Amino acid sequence: MFSKTIIEPFRIKSVEPIRWTTREQRENLLRAAHCNLFLLSADDVLIDLLTDSGTGAMSTHQWAGVMEGDESYAGSRSFVHFKRSIQDIFGYTHVIPTHQGRAAERILFTVMCKKGDVVPNNTHFDTTRANVEFVGAEAVDLQIPEARHPETVLPFKGNMDVAALEELIARVGRERIPLVMLTVTNNSGGGQPVSMENAKAVAGVCHKHGIPLYFDACRFAENAYFIKLRERGYAGKTPKQIAQEMFALGDGCTMSAKKDGMANIGGFLCTNDEILARQEQNLLILTEGYPTYGGLAGRDLEAVAIGLQESLEEDYLRYRIASTAYLGNHISEHGVPIVQPPGGHAIYIDAKAFLPHIPADQFPGVALATELYLEGGIRSVEIGSLMFAEAAQMELVRLAIPRRVYTQSHIDYVVEIILRVWERRSRIRGMRLTYQAPFLRHFTAHLEPIG
Ligand SMILES: *Cc1c(COP(=O)(O)O)cnc(C)c1O
Repeated sequence: MFSKTIIEPFRIKSVEPIRWTTREQRENLLRAAHCNLFLLSADDVLIDLLTDSGTGAMSTHQWAGVMEGDESYAGSRSFVHFKRSIQDIFGYTHVIPTHQGRAAERILFTVMCKKGDVVPNNTHFDTTRANVEFVGAEAVDLQIPEARHPETVLPFKGNMDVAALEELIARVGRERIPLVMLTVTNNSGGGQPVSMENAKAVAGVCHKHGIPLYFDACRFAENAYFIKLRERGYAGKTPKQIAQEMFALGDGCTMSAKKDGMANIGGFLCTNDEILARQEQNLLILTEGYPTYGGLAGRDLEAVAIGLQESLEEDYLRYRIASTAYLGNHISEHGVPIVQPPGGHAIYIDAKAFLPHIPADQFPGVALATELYLEGGIRSVEIGSLMFAEAAQMELVRLAIPRRVYTQSHIDYVVEIILRVWERRSRIRGMRLTYQAPFLRHFTAHLEPIG
């Protein structure tokens, strides 16, 4: 049996200082950054929860792998390790290394899609959607309807709506759908898992119509662990066995190794299709690199090969999922509205419910994120009206947890700061935009508090 206290399943060998600032300093820094947390210098952030992408800590084993990296241009030994590790988990015939997930997406959609095609997904991640649209195809999100309600608690809120998939195929025709994608976990849907039962049902529909199924596998290990915890018949299986069972349902995958690859850079594309693989490798050579390194150094290939296996270790996953839930549950116990249930990699605060007196056009998510910085030097990110403008469905503030980076006491501190801001929420003011770029405005926008 395990203890009630979840401890970090590692000890710390190398430390990186983080810097305290005073409230007065943070007020000045925030003003200089035009109230946009992307424009802060990372040195001025105490706890950085901007993203879990590429921000994880590598293990001693990974660092040893870095030294072992074979930097040969062609036929590197590190590529053999990389391929072997991926095939052990994912089981696909062809493994194509890329510098990150979006490069795998660009190659996949360039080869498989054309103008007028339709790509269904439970929820497209933003780079995935952009790459589908870039080739002139339409990206359709088919998440289950319950996923739109932040407060609804479901074990597998990341699932695809299988009936909606059938309807879409009937409506647009099988010929216009070159592939179906399933994102595990569903990132844009709050880091919510997809059940094996749902993946099997989606695969069943795909097989019936002869449509290939690809996984967006970025958080596959977290998804496998949720299945172990929550789905009948999986408690006795290892996360690796669960991942293997899931990927056997598909024809290939895209992956960002900056997530459950436990590396700071890297990605890959897999397929079982010989002809597609050849076309994909030709594109790879054009923009990424030779097929045995694909835009990565040999040392990165080693770090990913080892990191993928470490992400499936049960001690790690137990700590990972428990520490994210700990943050969510402790703030939600005190009334802070969050997207329920806590996901794998992040907690999303419902800023609209947190700050009901601030209308959407005054950016409640930005107002809350800037308060968390002012109060305690915490960096989070708004996912709402600033990021999506009129298309925003919710006003959220995401606290993404980097892998193996922060300890229990860091998370306790984050809880304390959020609760302090919660106490004085009625005094928080809305924001107004003073500068915006024509695209992806959230990265560079300037704002100021109103009144
Ligand atoms: C991060 C991510 C991507 C893109 O990966 P990058 O390495 O950032 O290019 C694609 N899909 C999902 C679900 C992601 O979380």
